[in-house]
Amino acid sequence: MKTLDCRDAGFDCEGKLRAETEEEILRQAGEHARTEHNTEVTPELAEQIKMLIKDEED
Ligand SMILES: [Zn+2]
Repeated sequence: MKTLDCRDAGFDCEGKLRAETEEEILRQAGEHARTEHNTEVTPELAEQIKMLIKDEED
């Protein structure tokens, strides 16, 4: 399981994304950024997010 803490990406946010794959995390991050933060995941932010994704035991 891959996880991403939104605050690690620089947002003051308790949001935590979980998905099976990095691609799915990025897809969810795009949606989350739009709906929760009214912003877009730029290619630069996407690269940053990839490095922030953590592996978690199921
Ligand atoms: Zn967030």
